[in-house]
Amino acid sequence: MTPMRAARLHAPRDVRVDEVPVPTPQPGEVLVRLDRVGVCGSDVHLFRGDRPAAYPLIMGHEGLGWVEAAGGGVSPDRVGDRVVVEPNVPCGVCAWCRRGRGSICPNKRSLGVNAPGVLAEYVTIPSSHAWAIDESLPWQEAVLIEPLAVAVHALSVSRLEPGDGAVVLGCGAIGLLLTQLLATVRVNAYAIDLDLRRVEAARRAGAVEAAVMTGEAAPGLAERLRRDGAWSVVFECSGTASGAAWCLDAAPRGGTVVLLGLAVETIPLQPLRVVREGITVVGSIIYDHPDDFRRTIRLVHDGMRVGHLVEHEFSLQEVERALVDAGGVLAGKAVVRVR
Ligand SMILES: [Zn+2]
Ligand SMILES: [Zn+2]
Repeated sequence: MTPMRAARLHAPRDVRVDEVPVPTPQPGEVLVRLDRVGVCGSDVHLFRGDRPAAYPLIMGHEGLGWVEAAGGGVSPDRVGDRVVVEPNVPCGVCAWCRRGRGSICPNKRSLGVNAPGVLAEYVTIPSSHAWAIDESLPWQEAVLIEPLAVAVHALSVSRLEPGDGAVVLGCGAIGLLLTQLLATVRVNAYAIDLDLRRVEAARRAGAVEAAVMTGEAAPGLAERLRRDGAWSVVFECSGTASGAAWCLDAAPRGGTVVLLGLAVETIPLQPLRVVREGITVVGSIIYDHPDDFRRTIRLVHDGMRVGHLVEHEFSLQEVERALVDAGGVLAGKAVVRVR
């Protein structure tokens, strides 16, 4: 079969555009021809070697494209569908999957992490994980559906209701998408980051309050938010341990801290305060299949607009620069054009 181009990681900081065979869809799968692929913070961590990978690994998990072929048992009508890839495939049989919690399945296949990713001309995926979307939806909106689903899951974990208030710490792509989602469902968002450009982006995303936080101002701001009474949930999206500690500090009586960031260091936690003030601390990782993607696609089809967060476009040949810049100079979301 004719080969395809794919961005493969061979070692930390060694990504190459290689020619590899086009995969063949297995029964139940579709072959997707990719159009655009979002670059995520977790891709940057993989690129830098912060987490182990089986090299060479085809990178990328935020894929938008078209169904090119259908495997056995899949309706041929699917060919030609414009689709967003749901890149985490839970096993479906473990205790957590049986309770609808595929997001924490320990056996899940994650494209671009432990299975071939979408930074390639083609990828195979179970047909249930290739979500059809409208042809008319601008690619800037469609390519953000996967990270938006992360925010949708975090919102459901938070149990926030319209009229409530929530603090979002960290205004990278996930923090900004979450801020915009909160605004869409009429939850007041208070967005906080160290970087003024990101704070301004959070205002554009609909934050009712937004602030740059410096190290010295952090304890005072946490105390003010805790006493304010207007912010019942604190989302940790900075990915730092100090950020998680700050979120615990900022959580009010009866409040909830939702941890999305993936820091590995430990933080102090005072049991007395958590117990006496009834604080809930809960983790939120990716999304549960199929509800979170279904909800997210409905939101975008109903008119929620997030595409303004896409600020940079690279070709597949420029993938190394996309990964370096996404982990450094860029404030907005970077996208790779594959086709
Ligand atoms: Zn991601
Ligand atoms: Zn499972």
